[in-house]
Amino acid sequence: MEKYVTTPIFYASGNPHLGHVYSVFIADALKRYWQLKVGRAFLITGTDEYGQKIERTAKDSGISVKQFVNQKSHCFAELWKKLKVSPDYFVRTTDDNHKHNVIDVWSLLTRSGDISLGDYTGLYCVECEQFYSEHQLVDGCCSIHETPVIQYSKPSYLFNLSKHLQSVLSYIEANEDFIQPENYRREVIRFLKESDQENLSISRTDFQWGISVPGNNEHVVYVWVDALFSYLTAIQALGGAKQNLANTIQVIGKDILLFHGVYWLALLSALKFPFPEKIIVHGWWTLRGKKISKSNPSSLIQPIDLAGITTIDGLKYSLLVKKPLGRDGDLTTKTLVETINSGLANSLGNLVKRCTTLISKNHQGLLKTPDKLTTYSEQSIALIAETDSLLSRLEKAYQEAQLHEVCFLVDALISSANTYFHERAPWNPKDSNPLDHAVETLQIICSLLHTISIVYSPIIPNICFDIRRQLGIEERELVWPGRVEILEFVINKPESVFQRIVYEGTK
Ligand SMILES: [Zn+2]
Repeated sequence: MEKYVTTPIFYASGNPHLGHVYSVFIADALKRYWQLKVGRAFLITGTDEYGQKIERTAKDSGISVKQFVNQKSHCFAELWKKLKVSPDYFVRTTDDNHKHNVIDVWSLLTRSGDISLGDYTGLYCVECEQFYSEHQLVDGCCSIHETPVIQYSKPSYLFNLSKHLQSVLSYIEANEDFIQPENYRREVIRFLKESDQENLSISRTDFQWGISVPGNNEHVVYVWVDALFSYLTAIQALGGAKQNLANTIQVIGKDILLFHGVYWLALLSALKFPFPEKIIVHGWWTLRGKKISKSNPSSLIQPIDLAGITTIDGLKYSLLVKKPLGRDGDLTTKTLVETINSGLANSLGNLVKRCTTLISKNHQGLLKTPDKLTTYSEQSIALIAETDSLLSRLEKAYQEAQLHEVCFLVDALISSANTYFHERAPWNPKDSNPLDHAVETLQIICSLLHTISIVYSPIIPNICFDIRRQLGIEERELVWPGRVEILEFVINKPESVFQRIVYEGTK
């Protein structure tokens, strides 16, 4: 069955930054893995374009709100293009298909008796566009924006949240790998057990920039409710149905965990729609100790400028390998470059270059498919067996979205291949049958590199493409390998697939 992988639908109040890129890289890697595994996988991203904050920001910049969100949305779409990420659907919450979807959902909730008109009173952060309880505040301020919250009491449509919390809780408790990593699952369970929240306010009356509530133009739909259902809009636009939520993997940042782990699921439960297959929660990167956000200009190194130093694959690899997904981590350009040079240039890139150069120089650029009677040395058989068994561990790591573990496992394999290569020294044949020895060694290395170029393609797709090209493998649709295949390799002109990055900066 096909898979859908979603990123958060990013709020179009500012330009994309490295935090957005991290979410997209994770989702893109997972989509690419599932594409190898099941043949049909879709990456969904987009922009969340309604709400009071956007209305205000647009007003401040002196253009119409629609022009403003068009510009911002375009910035996101362009960045993904520049980073060679190709979403299968880019959802915009101001598009007509989304509006229709939200209106349908609203009508269903009204019919099921889950929505009523009332008043909502509470402490509200305009920046977050959400209510907080007293104990979530720090000195009367929102903990994210450090600005005072306002007392808010307005007529509002209310969603009967408490009615659905128990079914959400039961589901999360019964499905251990539903929210990953585990600490975030526990956080949601704790919230659900302690919550005394009766209703969720799901409409606003003090601004206009939103989807009008069906039958009551004085209200617009709360921006979060609107945004959450954009996942469904995208699935439907790709030809899927609401049932496909059940094979959707949702990548989110830890700051929006409650919206997804509680409100989204409660709404789905009220609608009797399936829950997503998994919610994968990632922590934050800080840049030289500072949170990456638009309210912190010094953190705003342009992702595309950084990729100009690190390369696109280098950036993706280093962000994924440097920390387990759920944790927070601090980065500097210098440490990223060191990680990339060690993993991609010294280890992988060098092995490809040395191996293909030898084949070109000593073997007329050709390693024929061995005939069935070829017997390999114990050392070769052991390395192949090690790789074969690694494939199932890698699958597990991909399926659990442990992408740093994927990198760790493949890097360890590359290291074993390098050791094998150096021990057998195929450039300096010394045993009784020198030609066979060298051919066998190079054949095994090329076969491993070919396997690596498939299983590592979700993380470093461009380098992997170059490796296959260097090995003379005809490009066809890739599938996840069950074992290492020994093929024929044709080397035309050995070229470097990854050059060491020279970075003079100290940060
Ligand atoms: Zn806030």
